[in-house]
Order: sequence, then C-alpha cells, then structure tokens
Amino acid sequence: MSEIADLLPDLVALRRDIHQNPELGFCEHRTAARIAAELRASGIEVHEGIGTTGLVGVLKGTREGTRSLGLRADMDALPIHEQTNLPWASRTPGTFHGCGHDGHVAMLLGAARVLAADPDFAGTVNFIFQPAEEGQGGARVMIEEGLFDRFPCDRVYALHNWPGLPAGTISTRPGAIMGAADKFRIALVGKGGHAAIPQDSPDAILAAASLVQQLNTIVSRAVPPYAAAVLSITEIHGGHAHNVIPAEVMVGGTVRTFDPAVQDRIEERMRAMLKGIEASFEVECALDYDRYYPATINDPQAAADALEVAATVARAELAPEPAPTSEDFSFMLQQRPGAYIWLGQGTQGHAAPLHNPHYDFNDGVMETGIRLHVALARHWLG
Ligand SMILES: [Zn+2]
Ligand SMILES: [Zn+2]
Repeated sequence: MSEIADLLPDLVALRRDIHQNPELGFCEHRTAARIAAELRASGIEVHEGIGTTGLVGVLKGTREGTRSLGLRADMDALPIHEQTNLPWASRTPGTFHGCGHDGHVAMLLGAARVLAADPDFAGTVNFIFQPAEEGQGGARVMIEEGLFDRFPCDRVYALHNWPGLPAGTISTRPGAIMGAADKFRIALVGKGGHAAIPQDSPDAILAAASLVQQLNTIVSRAVPPYAAAVLSITEIHGGHAHNVIPAEVMVGGTVRTFDPAVQDRIEERMRAMLKGIEASFEVECALDYDRYYPATINDPQAAADALEVAATVARAELAPEPAPTSEDFSFMLQQRPGAYIWLGQGTQGHAAPLHNPHYDFNDGVMETGIRLHVALARHWLG
C-alpha cells in the first residue's frame, strides 16, 4: 500500500484547500468542480448536476462482473464561525467544515485514484459525492433525481470520521447506527382577550403549559423501556402583555428515535394528546410534524462484511450502541443494503466534537479511510 502513502501529501493539500473554501448545502459549486477535475484526471467517467451540485464518478473493473458498489462522501460545510486559527482555516466567515466532510471528499478521491490505477475487479464502483447532508437531505434529492436508476448499486457504504473513537479505529454495527430526527411545531389557537375576563377567552398559555407536561410523559409511558427515544420541547412562544390573554401560543421541539415503530407511536400519542387539549381548554391545535431524517439502519450482512474488511486494514470494533445524531445516508440505506461506518478521529489532539468551532479533520487517519474504501470495493467486486 505504499502507493497510498505517495498520494497523501497531494490529498492532504486538497483536503485543506476544500477546508479553506467551504460551501454550504446545494452551493458546493467550487468543491464539485474540483472533485470532477480530480476524477477526470484519474480517467474516471463523471456525471454532474445530480441534486444540484451532486456528482457521480463511474469506474468499471477490468474483469467481467455484474455487481456494483456505491461509495458515498458528503461535500457540504456548516454555518459556523471557525475558531481553530489553523493556517488552512476557512476564508469564508461563518462557513466552516465542522463535520469533516472535507476529509470525506479527500479520502474518497484517494480511493478513486488507487482503484483507477489498478482496476483489477469485477463490476462497477460508483463514487457518489452528495451535497447538503447537514439537514437539507441532499441524499434524498439525488435519489429523487434517479441516482440508483442511473447508477445501479447493489451495495452502498459511507464513511464518517468520529471524534472520541481512537484514531484509525473503524467501527460499525448491524441495525440502527444513527437516530431518526423529527421536528414538530404545535400552534395552540384561542381567541385573545382581556386577562380579567377569562371566561370569554380560551387560555392558550394554560393549554400550552398542560401540553408540555403531557408530551413529557410519552417517552416514559408509551415507549417500551427497552427501546430508546428522546422528546425535547425546545421552544414556547406566546404572549406580550400582563393584561392580555394571547390568541396563540407555539410549542416546538424534536423527537429522536431508532425504530420506525417507536417513531410512529410517539407521533400517534402526540396527535391524541392534542385532541384532549382541544377538549379540555377550548383551543384549536395545529400540528406540523416533520420527519426530516429517518434512522440510519445498517444491513446486518453489509455491516458484518464491513467489519471483516476493516480488520484487514486497521483495528475494527463492533459499535456497542447507536448515536442519537442523524445522517441523511439513511435515505440511501432505505433504497439499498449497505452500512454507515465510523472512522476514529482520535481521543487526544483531535477530540473536538463534530460541529464544534475548534474541530478539524485529522489528516492522520486519511490513509486508513482510503484503504478501507479500496478494500470494501475489492471485497464486494472481488
Ligand atoms: Zn454534521
Ligand atoms: Zn457529517
């Protein structure tokens, strides 16, 4: 694997260039152009403009084969002001690669170079560079625009750097690895009126107070104790004067789950409670419940294969539990069997968490990430 070591200085420079020039979701024009140029320089066929800025590189092996593999990297940055003071820190104030997607791009481009230089495999590798992972669902948009129809993949993998896991350790698990993320907004609508004449004005404030209490019983009373879920109410807006009963109060928050049945149960209980609130307080309730990212569910066989392959390139370990954060690779895993894999970023030096202004991708794990991508391809298309 010495050839990977030879590529590293170039790939580290590329990673830092992308870091210095971060772009938010669906605006990754410069990043996508750099990726397209790199892929073409490796002799890889490039298809651009899938999901706005998304692109796919297609590499066929020299041996006859019908299997196909998708390897995905996300490209977008976050709306955070970087505070690392590194020489390659963001040049765009308020925009920052705080989730290491710059590193994901560099690792997948490295794997593309290695595989293109020695395409001794049977079948096709699709290098998927997706936009807008951070909350905007770029993966879903690429799928809606025909990603898997145009570029068949009978297995998909994605690698995400993972602070807190020892540098270079590779970890994944069968089943749920990341949570589903839902957000809700509830409008409680009364009439509005004088605070001294409560009999004429349904009290949306009191209704909201009761609702907050009731919603906080869902996880403890309606979700099985062996399942995991979080419901957090994070917003209440309403009222502006001491002598006015407001006409409307808004209550909002988030729900995180790992099992679609639990997710369904929570939404169902919320809707039932709103009917009770309407009857009790004479207000009207309007619920906007948005399931924006589903849970990321690994195929058991794909996860087992990933761990087996990972053990040939680095230290591999079964992840004991899923993470409560979410990931839009979940949409790809709803379409195709595959697995989401964590690459340890380090416990010291590179321990700043994802989305923290002091975070930086650890270039020291880049070689391991490239080797894993290459080994996954050679294994599935062997
Ligand atoms: Zn992120
Ligand atoms: Zn990320």
